[in-house]
Parts: sequence; C-alpha cells; structure tokens
Amino acid sequence: MVGGSLAGLMSALTLARSGMAVTVLERHGPKPGNGGVLMTNDGLLEKLTGWNSTPGGAPTPAHLPGGFHSWGAIHDALRDTAAADERITLHHHTRIASADQDTRRAWATTDEGKRFEADVVIGGDGHRSVVRAAVAPHRPHAAFAGYVIWIGFPRESSLPPRVRKDRRIGQGAFLHSDNGILFGNYMPDEDGRPNDLQVGVGWYDNTHNAFLRQNGNVRDGVVHHSVTPDQVPDRVWDELARLARKDWPAPWADVLLAAIEQRALTGIPIAEYVPDRLVNGRIAIVGNAAHVPTPMTGSGFSESVSDAEALAEAVAEGFVPDHAATALERYELARLRRARSVVESGKSFSSSFRIDR
Ligand SMILES: Cc1cc2nc3c(=O)[nH]c(=O)nc-3n(C[C@H](O)[C@H](O)[C@H](O)COP(=O)(O)OP(=O)(O)OC[C@H]3O[C@@H](n4cnc5c(N)ncnc54)[C@H](O)[C@@H]3O)c2cc1C
Repeated sequence: MVGGSLAGLMSALTLARSGMAVTVLERHGPKPGNGGVLMTNDGLLEKLTGWNSTPGGAPTPAHLPGGFHSWGAIHDALRDTAAADERITLHHHTRIASADQDTRRAWATTDEGKRFEADVVIGGDGHRSVVRAAVAPHRPHAAFAGYVIWIGFPRESSLPPRVRKDRRIGQGAFLHSDNGILFGNYMPDEDGRPNDLQVGVGWYDNTHNAFLRQNGNVRDGVVHHSVTPDQVPDRVWDELARLARKDWPAPWADVLLAAIEQRALTGIPIAEYVPDRLVNGRIAIVGNAAHVPTPMTGSGFSESVSDAEALAEAVAEGFVPDHAATALERYELARLRRARSVVESGKSFSSSFRIDR
C-alpha cells in the first residue's frame, strides 16, 4: 500500500481483515498535520477490521464513535488500529518514486532506490499519486478545478470580544457571494478546551488563480502543492482582508480577519480527476489517487470507505497470487462507475464556479 493516510489505512485494514499481509509505505511521519472535519458512521473501525463484531471478540485499540471528527482524530484512530494489527507493517518516512510490475510480481520503488515487492501494489497516495502513472499512464494527473479553498482554524479567544460566543458560529455557515462560498462552524473539542474552541472556516475563492500560477502552486493545469501561509505575499493578504470585509457578514468576516491577521490561512487549490480505470494488472488505486472529486461534493472520505470495502470483498472472493489481476478486476468492476459519477457531479459545480483568469 503506497500512502498511509485515510484511504490507504482503511484499505490496509480491510485487506488485513481478508487475510492479506499488508506493508504500508508513507512518506510522512505517523502524525501528519491536516485540517478539516469529516463525518464517520458509528462502528467504522469495527466494520473495517471485523474486530469486536462478535460477542467476546477482540476490541479495536481506538474508539471512533459516529459523528463529526477532526481529520487528525480519524487519522490517529486508523493509524493506531493498523499499528495493532500484526498483519500490517507501517513504514513512515518512505517516499515512493514509482510502481511497476511483471507477470509474477508488482513493486514500489522509493526515491532512494529501495524496492518493496508484493503480489499487488495499491496506490492510496492522494491526488498527486505516483502509482496512478502505472495504472493510467495516458492520463496520470488530476487537473486544477479553477479555484482555491482557504482554510483556517482560529481559536475563539483570538476573535474580537464582540463576536466571541456569538451563537451564529455554533449554527454553522454556508454562505454565497459573487466570487466565493464560505463554510464555518466550531471544530470538535478534541484537546479538552471547551471554553476556547477552534472555529473552522473554509472559503472557496475563484479570484486568485493568477497568483496560484505565479506562485507555482498550479503549473500546466496541475495542482503541485498547497499555499502555505509563509508563501502568501502581503499584497494577497490585503486582498483577502478586503474581500472578507466586502463579501461576508459578521461573525464570519471577523473569523476570517482574525485568521488573516494571524497569517493562519492555508490555500488548497482544488483538483479533480475522473478515472477511466482503477486497475492495471497487479496495480490498483484507491481514494484520491483513484478519483478526485471537489470537496464541495463532501464525498471523498465516504467513497474511500467504499473503495476499501470493495477491495477487500474482491480479494475475499478468491485471491490466487498467480492470478492477482483477476481479484483487482472485480474491484474495478464494483467501483469504477460510481467513482466516475461522483467526480462528474462535482465537475458541474466547478464549471459554474470557476472564472478563468
Ligand atoms: C479541503 C478539503 C476538504 C474536504 N472535505 C471533505 C468532506 O467534507 N467530506 C469528505 O468526504 N471528503 C472531504 N475531503 C476529501 C477527503 O479528505 C479525502 O477524499 C479522503 O481523506 C481520502 O484521501 P486519501 O487518503 O485518498 O488521500 P490523501 O489524504 O491525500 O493521502 C495520501 C497519502 O499518501 C501519501 N503519499 C503521497 N505520495 C506519496 C509517495 N510518493 N510515497 C509515499 N506516500 C505518499 C501522503 O503523504 C498522504 O499521507 C476534503 C478534501 C479537502 C482537500
């Protein structure tokens, strides 16, 4: 498994449940930073692992009740559960440069030339997947969708006193302006500070595409990396502050202005990818490596759960190492149509929202 984030860890867990030994190769350490809030169904860990599903069965080492969780809390629970599974080996700080195969084996090669061989290689390595190049060499890159989302998480204590405890924050926001869409709400309290919650805000902005290109975040129509706060010049901070005051009402303008003042907004240029295949021989892709819908669909995580389940079911139906491709073809058959339609549904939003300048 290349990539040990949400899709990679979930697929590792379901494959281990099906009896496979899984090696996860992740370029980052065990606790990568990432923002955002995702919703999980109750019993997700039990479903993925099959543990604790019968009376007296082994409990999962982490607890993840159904509901809204920060991305980090979900990642921690999946990583701890994978680490406790003796069929899964986690390698962190291991960056894969390419994947390839012959008729008997598949392999992933690190940027230092070390080769990991297996019956199958699965790419769970996100929207800039390197494994995708071995599955769809004719179309290896996700395309820039034409807008960026700025996300920030200021603490309530950093907001002006007049908007602290403003009940409109807890009611959440989903607002539109001429050139933007804004989401906001309190973040779940996961560090025991109920009186000083973080306020999560996400601002879809279609007015800074020229900046994204000049700054190298988007090159030749492909998203290369997010905009970290230190890459944002004062000119752009000033423009964001002006737009925040013009386009958004209180308390959301104040939340954005606090994040701008703290230089604590990250810009994520949005990518999209409609797959025409998920499998090539002994190599397959899952999660954002396989299909990249705009986050406006709110479906990337749940589709990754479905990939993990479909992969395990395809393997459980029968896995013969000499004919590994047959099991992966069942996975593709189960998932390709749905994956395409989810991304396509988001593309109609993107084409109505983006402005090409
Ligand atoms: C701003 C934003 C908001 C979102 N909101 C929602 C939402 O509300 N609802 C929802 O369902 N989904 C949402 N999503 C999507 C959702 O987070 C993802 O679809 C889901 O987490 C699956 O991601 P992933 O694990 O496939 O990819 P990623 O999270 O990108 O993980 C890929 C992993 O692979 C590793 N990796 C990459 N390249 C290599 C390499 N060469 N070698 C080794 N490791 C590598 C990375 O370090 C990373 O750990 C959102 C996404 C974004 C960007």
